[in-house]
Amino acid sequence: MVMNRLGIVGCGITGAVTAMLLKHEIPHLNIVILEKSKGTGGRMSTSRSSFGSSVDLGAQFITKTCNLTKTQEKFYHHLLEDGILQPMPENIEGLRSISSAVGHFICPQGSGSLVKYFLKKSECEILFEHKVTKISSSNEKWKTSCENGTTHEFDALILTIPVPQVLQLDGLTPYLENDQLENLKSVEYCSRYAVGFFYKNEPSFFKDVLWCAKFLSDDIIRYCSLDVHKRKATTLPSVVFHTSKEFGKAYIDQDTSVVQDIIVQRIQELFPQMPIPEEIKCHKWRYSQVEKNYCSEQGCTVLSHKPLLICGGDGFFHSNFEGCFASAESIVKKTVKK
Ligand SMILES: Cc1cc2nc3c(=O)[nH]c(=O)nc-3n(C[C@H](O)[C@H](O)[C@H](O)COP(=O)(O)OP(=O)(O)OC[C@H]3O[C@@H](n4cnc5c(N)ncnc54)[C@H](O)[C@@H]3O)c2cc1C
Repeated sequence: MVMNRLGIVGCGITGAVTAMLLKHEIPHLNIVILEKSKGTGGRMSTSRSSFGSSVDLGAQFITKTCNLTKTQEKFYHHLLEDGILQPMPENIEGLRSISSAVGHFICPQGSGSLVKYFLKKSECEILFEHKVTKISSSNEKWKTSCENGTTHEFDALILTIPVPQVLQLDGLTPYLENDQLENLKSVEYCSRYAVGFFYKNEPSFFKDVLWCAKFLSDDIIRYCSLDVHKRKATTLPSVVFHTSKEFGKAYIDQDTSVVQDIIVQRIQELFPQMPIPEEIKCHKWRYSQVEKNYCSEQGCTVLSHKPLLICGGDGFFHSNFEGCFASAESIVKKTVKK
């Protein structure tokens, strides 16, 4: 059967790279991405304040390792050439060293720009505010039903959402083999909160500190970054804080505004010179980074061969750019083989 229309659930970095690589392999393919939120990027999105400044609440650094595929090597070259990535500043305190790392990079326009870069090359259609709640198959097609009442049909479907959210899809389990269900259930993520501080003017605090990002050993705050300094950007100042995963786990089911107050109080204790910002954003990352990945396969797993249903994303590798890229390459290999 000729594959004409393919659906991707999730418009994060895995969905974006998958769409771009698939478009290259199958130029006639009509690719549609269904995304539950109003924007692209997922855990690599850049959040904006009401007065236009920005902060990366999720991914912070892109670490290049010596384990690259040829395709990844080629794209690092393009991303640096096009200014989407730049070498990371040196004044970062407490960054854990990774033996396979050969370089660290930042996204001057925010991590969301990395996802947008690949989406632009994919020429796909993106349907925002389309949260997929149910999937079913008939006549060799997948049908997706969304929370907003719409339904869509595809010759093949690719899921790039965190694994616990895959398991929440109605209608999925009858298609899974026993060990697949158990393997999916065993994937674990940690949880964190991220808080963004937005300023209209640069506080003197910014000039006094010697670091642009810092990892802390505090019980609540794990990481702090003067986002514009870290990104070498010229926009209005912003700061981002990530909580520890222990704090995230303990407070994950609490109301975000209550948790925000606890986090802000701790920030004031840790950084008494940091002034109260103009605006604050607190985000709950229920599925932040993978702690235990899918055990039996790397990159992705085929849940159904006819019609094709593949599940990929960082749950099948590591929670970083290269892990997601490798997952996308694996998804594409399995799609093109069909
Ligand atoms: C706090 C934090 C710090 C991090 N730091 C780094 C770092 O420094 N470097 C690094 O490389 N990585 C980092 N990571 C990890 C990295 O961000 C992730 O591994 C990566 O972004 C995962 O991409 P993805 O496309 O697989 O999933 P996601 O980014 O989660 O994308 C999935 C998308 O699917 C959408 N979605 C979910 N359910 C549905 C549904 N039912 N229907 C439709 N759409 C749906 C979501 O809205 C989302 O846009 C960090 C992550 C966090 C949270």
